[in-house]
Order: sequence, then structure tokens, then C-alpha cells
Amino acid sequence: MRIDLHTHSTASDGTDTPAQLVRAAAAAGLDVVALTDHDTVAGHAEARKALGELRDTGAAAPVLVTGAELSCRVDGVSMHMLAYLFDPREPELHRERELVRDDRMPRAQAMVARLREHGVPVTWDRVAEIAGDGAVGRPHIAQALIEAGLVDSIAQAFTPEWIGPGGRAYVEKHELDPFEAVRLVRNAGGVTVFAHPAARERGTCVPESVIHDLAAAGLDGIEVDHMDHDEPTRAHLRSLAGELGLLITGSSDYHGTRKTVRLGANTTDPEVYREIVRRATGAAPFPP
Ligand code: AMP
Ligand code: ZN
Ligand code: FE
Ligand code: FE
Repeated sequence: MRIDLHTHSTASDGTDTPAQLVRAAAAAGLDVVALTDHDTVAGHAEARKALGELRDTGAAAPVLVTGAELSCRVDGVSMHMLAYLFDPREPELHRERELVRDDRMPRAQAMVARLREHGVPVTWDRVAEIAGDGAVGRPHIAQALIEAGLVDSIAQAFTPEWIGPGGRAYVEKHELDPFEAVRLVRNAGGVTVFAHPAARERGTCVPESVIHDLAAAGLDGIEVDHMDHDEPTRAHLRSLAGELGLLITGSSDYHGTRKTVRLGANTTDPEVYREIVRRATGAAPFPP
């Protein structure tokens, strides 16, 4: 079984529509794919529909795990919390998700304003066009910077010169306290996995004591097999997970053409996947 528990669509900053993503997951031979857009569940309905259509044609189709990647911050460090199979209608988590997602718009506008103050010719109109209906994020601004000929790649935009953490045009957004995120997701029947917890170059790397504290607060797992973790880091995280009784996941963090990583580049053990499904009470995989 090939299980990929972390992907993005045009509902946030991926480049495949949810329907394209589902078809790409089938073509990649995945048995399970989780759709985990940043701070939104807006892609789930389209993904489910596309999956139904694919099954109707008799083609092999993956099972869909609904989820989201929640933007969090602790002690001034941004981090990401994957949330799986929560009830999307549970009001408290719904409200918090909206607060985080809605703040992305003024925040992106503020980053564009900063760039323009520095004489950089990007416009909000163009960034909004690139983001479309999706939750707007820095990768959309990065693409506008590429189009304007200012950087050659998305990665080059994530530097102090541009929109990297603390960079000259970086602006914070509203983010959840991760302990609150764990509580909210559990309360909505979902399961939490700390995404790429040691991805230093992304600036989403908190002190290890935070992982201990989150585990004590009910965190379910940590994402170990991720492209931003080298082999020694993975080995260390694996032993930490063992020590703290956390589940270990692996995933591609696929973003379509905005990153080079392919679907299924890293995968999750079937036993761990089954345990996530067992723990979840907010939603079932589709089809169950
Ligand atoms: P935002 O949520 O708007 O702050 O944007 C964060 C997103 O930008 C992450 O989820 C990644 O998809 C992407 N990202 C963060 N750091 C990098 C990086 N160093 N290179 C490329 N993409 C990055
Ligand atoms: Zn992203
Ligand atoms: Fe992330
Ligand atoms: Fe992600």
C-alpha cells in the first residue's frame, strides 16, 4: 500500500485543482491520498466528486483522507499542524480556521505593499489572480516575483531579501497556538500530526521541548519522512517518536508544479494509517 498523507491543491498554494490532484494520485499508483490544504477544507468536495467519477469509470482510484494543514505559532516560531478526519462543521475549529485563512488576504496585501515600498514592481491584482479562489500564501507572491524577473525560483523568494521568515517583505499572519490546535482538532474528532517538525530552512522548527509538551497535550504523531529532513534528522525524530509514543508519518507535501517533489515521494506505513483512521471520529476516509 502506498499512502501519501500531505498534499496541496489550488484550494491553497498547490497548482493542481482538487480533481486533478485526485487523478494524479491515481496515476501515481497511490492507495491513499490526504488533501491537506493550508487552513482550509475548500477542496474536499471537489476531490470527493472527482474520486467518485474516477471510480465510476472502473479505474483504480485512491482512498481520500480529508484534512488540513493548520498554520500555528509558538514562542514566535511558525509551525504547521496536519489535522486529519476532523468534522469540518464543528463550529469552534471552523471559526478558528476561518480566522487564520481570512487573515491571509490582508497579510499578503501587506507583503505586496512592502515589496512596492522597496520599488519592486509586483501588484496585488496579479498575486490575487495567481491565487485565484485559493487561500493566498507566500508561494503565490513568489510566483509574481518570478514573473517580474526578480528571482529565478520559488526557493529564491524565501530568503531574507524577499519573503523568507523575517525577510524585508515578510509579514506575519494570524496563527493558532499549536496546543489550542491539538485541543480543537481532537474536539472535532480529528487526529493531529506535527508537519515537518525539523525543517530548519523553512523556519518551521521549534525547540524539541515543544514536541514533548505537545505529546503530553494529546498530539498524535510527527511527520518524519519529509523531503526537508535528512537521514540523521529522520533517525533522530524516529527515536523521539518512540520515546514519546507518537505515530510516525511520511508524505510528499506535494504542491504540483510549485515544487519538484512528486506524489508518493515519501509514504506512511499502512499500520500507522489504520491507527489514524481508528482514532478519528470526526470523519471517515472516502470511500470508507
Ligand atoms: P505561508 O503559509 O503563506 O506563510 O507560506 C508558507 C508556504 O510556503 C509553505 O507551506 C510552503 O509551501 C512554502 N515554503 C515555505 N518555505 C519555503 C522555501 N524555503 N522554499 C519553497 N517554498 C517554501
Ligand atoms: Zn504550501
Ligand atoms: Fe507545511
Ligand atoms: Fe504542506
